[in-house]
Amino acid sequence: MTKDTTDNRRARPSPVPLGQRRPTDGKQVTDPCADEGWELDPGAVSDEYASLVSRQLALLGEDPAREGLVKTPSRVANAMEWLTRGYGECVEDVVGDALFAEEHRNMVMVRDIELYSLCEHHMLPFFGKAHVAYIPNGRIVGLSKLPRIVEVYARRLQVQGRLTEEIAGAIQRVLEPAGVGVVIEAYHLCMMMRGVEKQNSKTITSAVRGSFRDDARTRAEFLYLAHGRDAFGP
Ligand SMILES: [Zn+2]
Repeated sequence: MTKDTTDNRRARPSPVPLGQRRPTDGKQVTDPCADEGWELDPGAVSDEYASLVSRQLALLGEDPAREGLVKTPSRVANAMEWLTRGYGECVEDVVGDALFAEEHRNMVMVRDIELYSLCEHHMLPFFGKAHVAYIPNGRIVGLSKLPRIVEVYARRLQVQGRLTEEIAGAIQRVLEPAGVGVVIEAYHLCMMMRGVEKQNSKTITSAVRGSFRDDARTRAEFLYLAHGRDAFGP
């Protein structure tokens, strides 16, 4: 494929409706991609989902029987099951008994939590970082649990704003802290890949509860830390 072709296709809907595309002749595809696979936790692949993916390939004009695609439906089903595993998890189970009595009332923050999710409008990835903070009110949670809470909600079909709210709400619910703040900065492939002139734009969302909402100084401290400036630096 020449560079020209790639550029021309970018950001434009196909001029040929899916049902009218000419199917690809699988025999013409030379040098099929090696079956190196992406085995995510192989196991209960949904046959029904896999057959949907097979149909999807055919609708795109591909030949689902050609060598490079034979295992694609089951791989995609497997990957999707893994990428949406948050539907099968709940925060109460994830936190378990990792709650500890603690009297201090200083802000606790975990920054730069890696985050990968799928936008519910296009089922394409958005990814970035979450910064999560709270002020204890008699108890704290094990630090490793905050990234796990982010995962429970990120591994579902999402919009970034709701994801941010759900994380803040869950921490409020299980920890009953004096306040919670969550900031997410993410890049959305549905914007970047479709070439809507937003290749480099980052979406930032925040959700605050309790003292993070009501106390301007707490909120300011949180945002200052969340945006990556060293509070103790020059
Ligand atoms: Zn999208």
